Amino acid sequence: MDDKARLGLNVGTRTKLARECPYCGANANHLFSRFHRGYLKCSGCQLVFSEVSINHSEAYVGYSDTYDREWRGEGREGIYSEVLNMLHDHHRELIDVGCGGGKFLVMAEGMGKVSWGVELGMNDGAWAYESVRSQIFESLEAMPKDLKVDVVTLVNVLDQVPQPWDMLASIKEKLREGGMVVIRIPNFTVHGSIHRLAAMMPDKIARRIMALSVMHQFAFGREALNRIFDDQGYTHIRYFVSVSSQGDAYNQGLFYQLGKRVMVPLAKLISALSMQRFLIAPSILVVAEKGKVKRNG
Ligand SMILES: [Zn+2]
Repeated sequence: MDDKARLGLNVGTRTKLARECPYCGANANHLFSRFHRGYLKCSGCQLVFSEVSINHSEAYVGYSDTYDREWRGEGREGIYSEVLNMLHDHHRELIDVGCGGGKFLVMAEGMGKVSWGVELGMNDGAWAYESVRSQIFESLEAMPKDLKVDVVTLVNVLDQVPQPWDMLASIKEKLREGGMVVIRIPNFTVHGSIHRLAAMMPDKIARRIMALSVMHQFAFGREALNRIFDDQGYTHIRYFVSVSSQGDAYNQGLFYQLGKRVMVPLAKLISALSMQRFLIAPSILVVAEKGKVKRNG
């Protein structure tokens, strides 16, 4: 699969962004670019975003036409278990946004949770798990207005939607007071460094290095995420190292596989020793609550 296909969103006509942050409107500066992938960083909120933007209908086409194995949930069982293990007994009802074929929902129900899903690509959905298919909606807005849940999960979704802040606002509407959102995203600390390194290398080496990096429409450091969560009224924001997917869904080879096996345990150790201050894993979990007490970490 080439880089464009892997992005999944690189379809239709893209629009060049002005150098203005799409979130806070402050000036954004060029961060790095290589081949067809360039990124800017906002001088205000520190949001990192692709120099080309996508709109909702392009995202829709991308997701309904180009599902691959990982989106169907293959190799993601460990990640789904990790997310489900973040939940407590009182978290009984959940919505998984970007639920793909519904494998996460099936696993959640296996743990006694009641679950619903949101998935843009359900017009295809031939691979959907039949037992949960009727619980999957095309958007949060398409769900019953009075549906409220204890938890909303987003596994590798928030960095790929046109307006993550709007999505977090819609999610809050669906959460009960004290409810929790659990988000898994690529870690910009790691993937941004890979891009920076690639930007300095000759083409041949740069292509190999870039194949290891996962950056979509947005990349979030802690500062930008804390700001966005704060603005949307979330509290108790916490960060954790996340496990990697099993297998090699993107055919990146043995070196990549070994790297994942070494890096995640090392990242967990460093994270624990530093009280979650240093997160060097390829992916992280971000947890925040809909509540009254403000206590960022
Ligand atoms: Zn900004």
